[in-house]
Amino acid sequence: MPLLDVTLTSPNDWKYISEGGATIVFSYCGPPDERFDERVLRLKKQTIDVGGLEGDETFQTEIIPRLVPRKHLVEMEAVTLSTSWLEALSALSTSLRPTWRTDYIDCASPSGFLAPNLTSSLITVEIKPKWSFLGPGMHTCRFCMHSSIRGWTTSYCPLDLFSQNPTRMKDALYHLYNSQTEGTATQNNFRIFIQGERAAPAQVTSTLQRLGMLQPEAMSQDRETRELVVETLHASLVQPESLSLLQTLNRLQRTLDDGGIENLASLWDQVHLKQKPFGEGNVQPSLDEWSSFVKEYLKLQDTPASSEVEAVEARLRYHILSYLLSTTFKDCSIMIMLDSLQHKSSTTPSRIFLIDLDPKPIERLSKWLKQDRNIANEYAALASQSKKECVDDWSSEK
Ligand SMILES: [Zn+2]
Repeated sequence: MPLLDVTLTSPNDWKYISEGGATIVFSYCGPPDERFDERVLRLKKQTIDVGGLEGDETFQTEIIPRLVPRKHLVEMEAVTLSTSWLEALSALSTSLRPTWRTDYIDCASPSGFLAPNLTSSLITVEIKPKWSFLGPGMHTCRFCMHSSIRGWTTSYCPLDLFSQNPTRMKDALYHLYNSQTEGTATQNNFRIFIQGERAAPAQVTSTLQRLGMLQPEAMSQDRETRELVVETLHASLVQPESLSLLQTLNRLQRTLDDGGIENLASLWDQVHLKQKPFGEGNVQPSLDEWSSFVKEYLKLQDTPASSEVEAVEARLRYHILSYLLSTTFKDCSIMIMLDSLQHKSSTTPSRIFLIDLDPKPIERLSKWLKQDRNIANEYAALASQSKKECVDDWSSEK
């Protein structure tokens, strides 16, 4: 079947919504058309340091669903685009994008996907939760170390969000909400969309009032808006389906990380007898290799001693892929679609999705090792009173 041709629409029919490191997203706002209504166009960005990763979307549609339940993933449909159409779209969106984004839509190799518009509900919240676990022997989680040395004033700790403990989860949500209202969320890990539009922190109250979702007199304070949004979000996240997804993401991050990049670097040195710099000469895994990896990983999760890979080179490659896949899950976002604002748990099933599950470039391994060492060293140099104790009470039985 021929692919749907998006160039039949005008670039003006697509509105910039948001972007991550690898993709940029537009929602359809043209004349009614059932092929495009309530859908978004996801486009690949040019990445400066690596060539385009072939098969990104196949990775997301064939590899990821073996690890995350399909009901929490978005269906993606490949579409036809053209260079000139993308250039026109790119020109239209320039002024709407954050000024610090200096990369561009990849117009030269036009490819894109249509996906459901997750921001089409009354309110959608996007959370980029980051690392869910404590590294071996650590007392502070990776995110809290990073935020301390960068001077971010956020009190958010991902381990609270992933704790499965309702009180800690609520704390995490308040901290996430506060960090964006205080304008300190340079890490971009909390975004609110109201009826498809990104709402700047200072506009949430007025937008909700304008849409009649808040009484003008009773809810004039941002503090009250925050309470209502956080309580609704919390009610949605403590539903069994959401807790289960958070637990899955937590498990994937920590088991794939598997002792961290330092562990991987020492295995690398064992294999290469310290003759080859870490990460040098690695080839990006093919889909077939990812597929075999996932099969092996799932087998090891079920029965840890069942399939010990013998050859040390093969073991190294297994651990490289494992770490690489962990970075995808450490960097993904959770989208929570809310149909109304209310304190009590809603009776309608929550709609919660994982997005931005693209494969990461293997060339970055050495950069990640340096980054990890820098964070650990800079954090170790901080005065002890400014250090944080993060609580990781992971139990796979939850
Ligand atoms: Zn922490």
